[in-house]
Amino acid sequence: MKDCNCIFCKIANGEIPSTTLYEDEDFRVILDLGPATRGHALLLPKNHFANLFELDDETAQKAILVAKKMAGKMKDALGADGFNLVQNNGEAAGQTVHHYHVHVVPRKNGDDVTMTFGSFPKPSDEEMTAIKDKIKENM
Ligand code: 5GP
Ligand code: ZN
Repeated sequence: MKDCNCIFCKIANGEIPSTTLYEDEDFRVILDLGPATRGHALLLPKNHFANLFELDDETAQKAILVAKKMAGKMKDALGADGFNLVQNNGEAAGQTVHHYHVHVVPRKNGDDVTMTFGSFPKPSDEEMTAIKDKIKENM
């Protein structure tokens, strides 16, 4: 399940060198070349999945456990006060490399990194109910 045109397949499987923080049978965790903060890492599965919707459940479960372990280690090593786990799916959501990956972003108190939520207009109670009903009818 590798895609020979995919740069993250090549990095995850060691064909392109990377600054690797962790590796096991299923994943490689590397430093991001365009980091949001010092120590910004990317968790890559070794198999190719374009995004969350292609990811199998077993790999999804393992991915969050590896991300958790990495954040714990990096917290101590880098003196991080907090972490963002960010995972973009589709160009609309800002995904630029179409091989599933999780950003593990160390944060410090008072750093000037902005990941803004809350700029969208506040929904009415009716709108919230309509959204909930729409999602639930597809579950
Ligand atoms: P996305 O926007 O798809 O969620 O994030 C892609 C991330 O991959 C970006 O943060 C970008 O800096 C990083 N990136 C792209 N190409 C490379 C590369 O060749 N090596 C590394 N280490 N990071 C990369
Ligand atoms: Zn790939």
